[in-house]
Amino acid sequence: TKATYDNIKAKDDQIEAFLTLNEENALAEAAALDEKGIAADQLVAGIPLGVKDNIVTKDIRTTAASKILDNFKPIYDATVIEKLKAQNFINAGKLNLDEFAMGGSTENSAYQVTHNAWDLTRVPGGSSGGSAASVAAGEVLAALGTDTGGSIRLPASYNGVVGMKPTYGRVSRWGIIAFGSSLDQVGWLTTSVKDNALLTSLISGHDDHDLTSSTRDVPDFGAQLNDDTNVNGLRIAVPKEYLGEGVDEKVKEVIKAALKHYESLGAIVDEVSLPHTQYGVAAYYIISSSEASSNLQRFDGIRYGVRATDVQDLEDVYVKSRSEGFGDEVKRRIMLGTFSLSAGFYDAYFNKASQIRALIRQDFENVFKDHDVVMGPAGPTVAYKIGSNIADPKTMYMNDVLTVPVNMAGLPGMSIPAGLADGMPVGLQIIGKPFDEETMYKAAYTFE
Ligand code: GLN
Repeated sequence: TKATYDNIKAKDDQIEAFLTLNEENALAEAAALDEKGIAADQLVAGIPLGVKDNIVTKDIRTTAASKILDNFKPIYDATVIEKLKAQNFINAGKLNLDEFAMGGSTENSAYQVTHNAWDLTRVPGGSSGGSAASVAAGEVLAALGTDTGGSIRLPASYNGVVGMKPTYGRVSRWGIIAFGSSLDQVGWLTTSVKDNALLTSLISGHDDHDLTSSTRDVPDFGAQLNDDTNVNGLRIAVPKEYLGEGVDEKVKEVIKAALKHYESLGAIVDEVSLPHTQYGVAAYYIISSSEASSNLQRFDGIRYGVRATDVQDLEDVYVKSRSEGFGDEVKRRIMLGTFSLSAGFYDAYFNKASQIRALIRQDFENVFKDHDVVMGPAGPTVAYKIGSNIADPKTMYMNDVLTVPVNMAGLPGMSIPAGLADGMPVGLQIIGKPFDEETMYKAAYTFE
């Protein structure tokens, strides 16, 4: 644990991944573990791991990278944290993100811009940019992220690490600061597929605090990954929309080479179509913003978080606290969401988007009738320069075109390093059937 902090301090001046270091507690916990010893079945005991700062941690400042939560110290732990604590993990600290996980570059943080671990002039992706960059820079072995529309997979792709978003319902959302409740899932960013699989089993499973969490058994995802793991006969579907217009040619080349490699390992690669992909981004931004506008009502300056001073009356408290506390992108989403849900526009926007969501889900169901996994790029480009897209939200949103369908359909999806384009990492996205993380992990493991 000491070495971890020495290392973080040497690197994080440049990477700027951490918002809060949990050093004092961590060193005390590590010392206590030295005394007590650790049980053989405690996989992560004594290992410092990073936590995205929209996951609540008891007595440890949790900001969601927003000014409105600048002073927020939660009084409880998220279920995923409780589960890791039961294994005696060490919480290294809280990692930067786009404010309330809204964004794809971590530039929307109210506190700092995190840098890509491969090239400090580029974005780390987002919204789990702090998590991805800290793992890629070797600050921590693994970090928790969240993924509502790609926030684990895109930064994993940009930083050349492994990032996995589980099936919706696989992991409890209790204690995750809610963005789009029907889309959000927690998952890991790691350097290896096996680490990722082992860690995912630790946080999965039903939780009475989250009624959308599944009661299915949780397999030991890591145990099945060994020298015998293979993809012989695996049926891989490659949607033509994922290698179409808007995807960088050099990214396509890396992905095509990866698919060739799978063929050489005995897999069967077929071109398929997911025809409603083109509507995914529009529908996702309506649904996620609608849910966000409702979820963010709780930040009113009264119950917790930062309260504006110099106010006249109650309404003034609300208006000033929210005006001062939320950043531009969050305000944009709240306005888009409340508009889409308003009586006059509900049918034209929210309802329509929900219909598109059903069609996207059907697209996948059709493909999965005779395929085991879907593959394509995780993002249309490699990491871009800091500042180059921030003034243009529509360009930013289009970067999510290949990741949001997975959340809309509730599927498991991951990004693994597939090669380089222009010296920057390219992520291969692997998408599985609902609750079939096992097949997805097997496919990922054989590629490594
Ligand atoms: N980039 C997407 C957005 O801004 C996804 C974010 C996420 O998955 N949290 O909404």
